Formats: sequence, structure tokens, C-alpha cells
Amino acid sequence: RDRVVLTEVSKTYDTPTGSTVALSPTDLVIEPREFVSVVGPSGCGKTTLLQLLGGFLEPSTGTLLVGDDRVDGPGPERGVVFQSPTLYPWLSVRGNVEFGPKCRGVDKKTRRAAAERMLELVGLGEFAGKRPYELSGGMQQRAQIARVLVNDPRIILMDEPFGALDQLTRERLQVELLRLWRESGKTIVFVTHSVEEAVFLSTRVLVMSARPGRVIVDRRIQLPGDDD
Ligand code: ADP
Ligand code: ADP
Repeated sequence: RDRVVLTEVSKTYDTPTGSTVALSPTDLVIEPREFVSVVGPSGCGKTTLLQLLGGFLEPSTGTLLVGDDRVDGPGPERGVVFQSPTLYPWLSVRGNVEFGPKCRGVDKKTRRAAAERMLELVGLGEFAGKRPYELSGGMQQRAQIARVLVNDPRIILMDEPFGALDQLTRERLQVELLRLWRESGKTIVFVTHSVEEAVFLSTRVLVMSARPGRVIVDRRIQLPGDDD
């Protein structure tokens, strides 16, 4: 149902001085519940791939399907977490998490309860009433994750979500993300420049190389206890 299928998907950016092939034609299938990391040097097309999946960019060629539907923009089944938190400073943490459901017309009681539940899940229950700037960077990133989760996307796309954090905070959030993924059964696509992070978190690692951007390694990681 939520299988992601790329067929010959490529992206070329046209610039005043010429054009850059950011992603050469790529065939890729991501199954539901996979935790896929995408690694590679700067400029190899990781963000481009993620933005294509998110529906923020249109493929130059090829087709991109989620389930039976052709991706033609962002959709509620796909939630996106960016590198730096983009919380609204004039809303409380709770208000930020409620914002999506509010826009969809979910009634106040229901969306408030959902927001509180998500904030508990990411360990920010006590901070619901604070403003984003009162939180540490790691806490803001957790609030951002709560804001994405509250919409119950089946696929979570993350672009170096922990890249700006100190190592201790990053390690803590990695563990929380793993727990969440195990419990929720969601599909995660996780862009990072850290091979170590990719191997620690994922069930599958894609390695990309630049000029032109393409996937050069696609490796599944056998977890202890996996039998397939
Ligand atoms: P990564 O996330 O791996 O660093 P990107 O997807 O950001 O790679 O970029 C891939 C290539 O596309 C790079 O050569 C980059 O310079 C180029 N590129 C990215 N975004 C644009 C853009 N908006 N306009 C032109 N070129 C771009
Ligand atoms: P995180 O790992 O989420 O970035 P920190 O390492 O910055 O968190 O902080 C550790 C703990 O200190 C938090 O879980 C929280 O209990 C407390 N804390 C951090 N920042 C604040 C704040 N601005 N106000 C109150 N408590 C805070």
C-alpha cells in the first residue's frame, strides 16, 4: 500500500550558467516499514532525492509512485523533518504540534489530546506550554518530530535531522527514533552524511556519489533476530 517506487527518476537543475544533473535516472523500491538511510558526500543528491520523495521537487524524468498514486506534491501520508527546526515562534510548543490538525479542521479537544500524546511520546510533556525559543536545540528537534507525527504520516522523510546537534543529544535522539520506528511500523527515509549513523539506525543503506548524483551501493542490514 505504501510502497515507494521510483522508475527512472532523475533531476536536473537548470541554472543561468548551464545545468546540473543532481540525480541521474534511478530505479528504487522502498518497502513499507523499511528504515532507509541515504549517505554520501556533499552534493551527491541526497537532499534532491528526499525532496523528490517529499513532493517538493518534480522529477525531470521518470515516475515516482507512493502506493498506486503518482506523487505530484506533498501529501499527508508523507511527513518531512528538516535539519533545523522550523517551529512557529509565536505559538507554544503545543500550538505548534496542533497546527497541522487545526488546519485540517480537527476539533479542538481531539487535536489538543493528540498533541499532548505526541509531546509525551517525544518526552516533552512538561514543555507543552513553553515557546520554542525556551527549549534546547534537541528539544526543538523533538517538538518538530512530534509536529510531524501528529499527522500520522505513514512515511517519514528526514533530512539530516540531528546534524546540528551535539553528539550526546544526537545519540539520545537516535535511540528515541529507533524506538519510535520499532513501535510505529512506519517507513523512514533518513538522509545523513554519517555512515556510522546510517549503519546504526537503518535496515538498509543507500550510498550515493556525485557528478552525477546516483546510488552506487544499496545494502540491506541484517539485524540480530531477523529471519528473512
Ligand atoms: P546533497 O544533499 O547530497 O548535498 P543536493 O541534492 O543538495 O546534494 O545537490 C546535488 C547537486 O545539485 C549539487 O551539485 C548541487 O550543487 C546541485 N543543486 C542542488 N540544489 C540546486 C538548485 N536549487 N539549483 C541548482 N543546483 C542545485
Ligand atoms: P536535549 O537532549 O533534548 O537537547 P538537553 O541535553 O539540552 O536536552 O537538556 C537535558 C534536560 O535538561 C532536558 O531533558 C530538560 O529536562 C532540561 N532542559 C533543557 N533545556 C531546558 C529549558 N530551556 N528549560 C527547562 N529545562 C530544560
